[in-house]
Amino acid sequence: MNNIYLKISILFVLLSGLFHNSLTAQETLNLTFPEIQYNDDLLAKIRLEANTIQGEKATEIRYIKFAESPRTFAQTVEGGTDEPYIQARTAYQIVFPHSTIMLDAGMDEEVHEFFGNGKKQPYFPSANDSVQQALRQAVKILITHEHGDHVAGVLRTKYFDEIAPKTILTYQMLNTLVNKPQMPQLKTDIEKVKNFVTVDFYDVLPVAPGIVLIKAPGHTPGEIMVYTQFENGKEYIFTGDVSWSYVGIEERKQKPASQVKRIGEDAVRIQYQLDWLNQLPSKGVQLIVSHDDIIQPQLIKKGIMKKGFILR
Ligand SMILES: [Zn+2]
Repeated sequence: MNNIYLKISILFVLLSGLFHNSLTAQETLNLTFPEIQYNDDLLAKIRLEANTIQGEKATEIRYIKFAESPRTFAQTVEGGTDEPYIQARTAYQIVFPHSTIMLDAGMDEEVHEFFGNGKKQPYFPSANDSVQQALRQAVKILITHEHGDHVAGVLRTKYFDEIAPKTILTYQMLNTLVNKPQMPQLKTDIEKVKNFVTVDFYDVLPVAPGIVLIKAPGHTPGEIMVYTQFENGKEYIFTGDVSWSYVGIEERKQKPASQVKRIGEDAVRIQYQLDWLNQLPSKGVQLIVSHDDIIQPQLIKKGIMKKGFILR
């Protein structure tokens, strides 16, 4: 009797194991996470996460401007004047004692021309060549979001096989690139996705000593900010395109309504992000705004960033 009971039990366990596995494989993720709260708790969490990957932290940040989009303040920030405002298109090299990590990837001239919309805008091919070279040398490549001026350099490159496997893209970025790219040139085949390091996370993800990705959907579904803590303790946050200017963060002002609509931004989420970023300089965090061309040259003069990449 006992023996039969045991046999039936084992059979049941085996069968349920089989069914369980096959069912699990078909399950779809059905979780709704709460909205990310951009507050002091998040900053504390980021600072903790920054120390969860052991190793020497970065010692400097370098940047290159590879193109410009001449606009006005009115086209950049809500309530801005008609004064000219050059939107710099930039990429960054985070320098570690024995390696580098790249942040954003530049773009080729065809993508640049798409942005110009028929108008000729400044493009610096040799600067973009330097970005490509720096991407090849980097041990990791981080992308703030899925727009052409940030991501094209890892999608449309003759070094794709070399660059893609060390490039981290989020599910949300890839979803846009596959299903709703900003421009036809960015349309990504689902097979191509396999080449990247594809990640998903709720609010923060440490990826290297001192480096933490911060989810910031709003400008695009895949937008992230990137926190960097130096070996000497200095802290930076690359704010991507949450704002196109330091003024937007200082005055907690969004992009003009026409741009918010054109891009399809989530203004509510962006406002939470702007309110948070606004507080961070007073807590010792240096912000780096991707498209700025006014403050960044000052940061160079102050030695907070350096111009040009270290290339071998
Ligand atoms: Zn941009």
